[in-house]
Amino acid sequence: MTNSPETILSTTLETDLLTQQLRREDALLRGHFRLSSGLHSDTYVQCARFLRRPELAAPAAAALAAQIRAAGLAPDAVVGPAMGGVVIGYELARQLGIPGLFTERDAEGLMTLRRGFTIAPGEKIIIADDVVTTGKSTLEVAAVLRALGAEVLAVASLIDRTGGAGGLDFPHFALLPVAAATFAPESCPLCAAGVPVVKPGSRPHPNPSLLDSQNPAGEGL
Ligand code: ZN
Repeated sequence: MTNSPETILSTTLETDLLTQQLRREDALLRGHFRLSSGLHSDTYVQCARFLRRPELAAPAAAALAAQIRAAGLAPDAVVGPAMGGVVIGYELARQLGIPGLFTERDAEGLMTLRRGFTIAPGEKIIIADDVVTTGKSTLEVAAVLRALGAEVLAVASLIDRTGGAGGLDFPHFALLPVAAATFAPESCPLCAAGVPVVKPGSRPHPNPSLLDSQNPAGEGL
């Protein structure tokens, strides 16, 4: 493993490297953003822009897999909520050598396991997502899995935006904590300071429609 691209780096270097990579891919922006919710924020996260590059996604997932192994966990499968959990869930499953599934919302918005995916009672599952913010979708996936008799071992995410307040009753492995502040426009200190507000994805880009059409709010914002 020493010279492979999936080498596990030291935690500090790994975090610094991941931060650099996220910034280079415009997946982690700091500034003054107007979110689709109407709130303003100092941070914009769009992991899909990072995960589109397999050469970046693979070592990131390898680092998560290493955390899972180091904790002595032996999962039977990885399950991620669509869309954010699909790519990282697949790559994490590949790294762990186990199946990778995903849940998705039905017409009523309920998280479900479809497409003929099955989970057997007693199976041990790692939930995967790109970003965990409130922990809401993570808990929805956990509820689906537990209803099938599975055991949720942990959630693994690239980015932890919970600020330690995820409300999860299982461990959370993450590579990078990201603090993000959101403000009502009328009480936004960035507005008060005269910083121009931008809509995420609206800056000059080779494919400017991409961010707007996929997830205008960014993950969890
Ligand atoms: Zn503002």
